[in-house]
Amino acid sequence: MQCKIADVKASVYVRISQDRAGERAGVDRQREDCSQRVASRGWELHALHEDNDLSAKTGRRRPGFEALLSDIESGAVGVVVAWALDRLQRNRRDELRLWEACQKHNVMLSLVNGADLDFSTAAGRFVADTLSSAARLEVELKSDRQKRAVQQQAQAGRWGGGRRPFGYDSDGMTVRESEAAIVRGMYARFLAGVPLGALAKWLNGEDVATTQERWGRRKGEPPEWSHDTVRRVLLNPRNAGLRAHHGEVVAAAVWPALVPEETWRAAVDKIDGRRHGIVRASNYLLTGLALCGVCGWTVHAGGGARRGIRSYRCAGSTGHFARMADPVDKYVRSVVVARLQRPDARDLLQEPTAAPDKAALRAEANAIRSRLESVAVEFADGSLTPAQLRAVTERLRQNLAQVEGRLVDAGRVPVLGPLVDAKDVEAAWDGLAVGQQRAVIDLLMTVRIDPPGRGVRTFRPGTVRIEWKGGAHE
Ligand SMILES: [Zn+2]
Repeated sequence: MQCKIADVKASVYVRISQDRAGERAGVDRQREDCSQRVASRGWELHALHEDNDLSAKTGRRRPGFEALLSDIESGAVGVVVAWALDRLQRNRRDELRLWEACQKHNVMLSLVNGADLDFSTAAGRFVADTLSSAARLEVELKSDRQKRAVQQQAQAGRWGGGRRPFGYDSDGMTVRESEAAIVRGMYARFLAGVPLGALAKWLNGEDVATTQERWGRRKGEPPEWSHDTVRRVLLNPRNAGLRAHHGEVVAAAVWPALVPEETWRAAVDKIDGRRHGIVRASNYLLTGLALCGVCGWTVHAGGGARRGIRSYRCAGSTGHFARMADPVDKYVRSVVVARLQRPDARDLLQEPTAAPDKAALRAEANAIRSRLESVAVEFADGSLTPAQLRAVTERLRQNLAQVEGRLVDAGRVPVLGPLVDAKDVEAAWDGLAVGQQRAVIDLLMTVRIDPPGRGVRTFRPGTVRIEWKGGAHE
C-alpha cells in the first residue's frame, strides 16, 4: 500500500548503536535509504533526526528520538521513516511511547527493511495493538519486579538509599558520633519540653550543619535548621533502628539505633503521631491496659451503642461487653488517688518489679512485626485463605498497637515520685497527661472490667475489680 498524498510530511529517524560492526558507514546507508523512501513515495521531508547510542548504558535520553516524538505529537508529520524496526526502539519503554503516539495521532510507520504500519487501517491497528501490548506487559512486569525488590529490601531492614541521614555516614550504616550525640540531645531536650523552633535556634547557634548543606548552602551562609527540619529528624524511625516503608515501620533495621525505641515513640507521640500513621498513645485511661473480667482479653475503646459516647469493649472474639467509659475512668481515678494519699504511699516508689521492661517490649514488638511478615509469606504460598490472613493480621496489628502504646508510656519520665510528694495528690493526678496516668496505673494495678449487668443504669463499683501489683497491696 502506498501513500501518494502530496502534502504528507515525513520525519526520518536513524540511530547508531554500539552493538553493530561498521556502524559509522552503516548510518550513512540508513540515511540514504530513508531519504530515498521519502522521495519515492512523494512525501515531503520534514526533519531528519539522528541519535548516537554509544552512551546507551548510561540511560540518557535520546534527543533525536524525543524530537521525533514531538514531531508526531504536534501533528507536524504523517509518516515516520526508519531503516528497520530495531533502529527505532532502544528499550521497551521508548517503544511503547512510540506505538502509543503513532496510534493516537494516526501516524504511519514506514520501514525500509520491513512493512508499512498504517494505523488508519484495521490491519495496521491490529499489528500496532499487539506490538504495544507486548511492550506494555514487559514494562509493567519490570516495574512490578522493581517494586517487589524495594519492598523486600524494606522488610529485610535494609536502607533504600537517598540523601545521607543526619547522624550516619553516607552508607546509612555507620554512626557518625559527632551528629549522633546531637540527635540524642535533640530528643532529650524535646521530651523535656523544648519546642521545635527553639531546637532549631539552638542547632543554628551551635553551627551544626544539616545534611542538606551540600546542595543548599553556599560557603559562609548560615546553617539552615528550621522547625521543619528538626521535626523531620525527630520523626525519623531510622533513629530508633527501625525501617519504615510507605510511612509504616516494617522491620528492625540493620543499622544501629541512635536512641531507644521508646524515646523515639514518645517524641513521635508528642509531635502528633496520628498524622504519620504511627500508633498514638490512647486518650482513654484503660484501653489496652484493663482486662475483660470474663475472658481476660484486653479492653479497647469504642463499640458503644451511641456515637459520641466514650466506651470500653471486650476485644475478645466474643465481645463480652461494651459499656460507658467515663464512670469506669472516674472510679479508677478515685481509687488511685486514695491509694497515693495514704501515709505509706512512699513505699510504692521502692517497687522494682513493677517497672515496664522496655527491652522485653521492644523484642515483643519486633517479634510481632516479623510474624506479620511471615503471615504474608504464608498467604502468598497458599497456606492461608484471605479470611484467615485478615483475621490473623488484624489480631497481630492490635497486639502491636498495644505493645507500641506501652513503649510510648515507658518513654516518659517517671511520674510516681512527684505524685507521691505532691501536697494535693488529686490536683497533681489531674495535671498529668493521660499517657502518664496510664503509666501509673500500669505500675500499680491490674484492672478487670466485668459486664455492667443487664438493664443496670447506675455504675456499680463491684463490676470494676482492681488487683494491686507487688508492693502496692492495700
Ligand atoms: Zn471478654
